[in-house]
Amino acid sequence: MSESTPASEIAIHAESLKKTFRDPQRGVVEAVKGIDLDCRKGEIYGLLGPNGAGKTTTLRMLSTILAPTSGTARIDGIEVKDDPLEVRRRIGFLSGSTGLYPRLTGRETLRYFGELHGMTGNVLDAAIQKCLDDFDLHDFVDGRCESLSTGQKQRVSIARAVVHDPPVLILDEPTTGLDIMASSDMIDFIESRREAGRCVLFSTHILSEAERLCDRIGVVYDGRMLASGTLDELRADTGTEWLEDVFRELVRRADAEAKATESASQGA
Ligand code: ADP
Ligand code: MG
Repeated sequence: MSESTPASEIAIHAESLKKTFRDPQRGVVEAVKGIDLDCRKGEIYGLLGPNGAGKTTTLRMLSTILAPTSGTARIDGIEVKDDPLEVRRRIGFLSGSTGLYPRLTGRETLRYFGELHGMTGNVLDAAIQKCLDDFDLHDFVDGRCESLSTGQKQRVSIARAVVHDPPVLILDEPTTGLDIMASSDMIDFIESRREAGRCVLFSTHILSEAERLCDRIGVVYDGRMLASGTLDELRADTGTEWLEDVFRELVRRADAEAKATESASQGA
């Protein structure tokens, strides 16, 4: 992040964010070991990393679902620890496991989540109407969610996440498990949020998706942010062209550094 970006332009800010789990089998798991992150308004930021890198844990901390072990996270200037409710109003969160209530209709779902975000009356009615139009839900919005096709469920899920028109959208692996049509709809949707001046932070392990969508990319590996910047900045930093090679070079450096630290501590 350049020093010149004014604070009011920063939608998501994380500093030295850490999360440690105590797992009965594995003992202490340092899932996130100190991540710094800045996402601006009107920007799509991709967290790119392999499985187990700490992406989901990071996004869950930013979304107030998990409390950080230490560090700072701010959404739209509001500290996640201090005012989780206010933070939740400003974000839409969607992950593969974000379920719909099977017995509610699409319309009831939107109403329920709108009310959860403090919306009522005409404001809520207008927001629901906008969702029906934006995501083309008219034909099936009064059917129970359990009766919808996968693609229809996905559209209701997205609408549900943005019914309160949050300035920040946080998506955990948004295209994982979707077929080609649904995944290209998701990509269009992410781009439309940027056009509307919103901030989108999403995680992926799919290089082509990050390459196509992201204004900036953060490479996460073993709980750390190895590098972040525009694709061109990452290319220049690593002296490589393809994102795959950028990624490999960053991992190679991190592994070499870890090895050097280890042998230094053994030699001491
Ligand atoms: P990613 O989303 O990048 O695949 P995760 O954030 O899900 O990575 O996981 C990072 C690490 O933290 C992994 O080693 C994972 O097993 C561990 N982890 C995640 N959640 C928990 C939990 N609730 N308890 C213990 N370990 C966890
Ligand atoms: Mg994950």
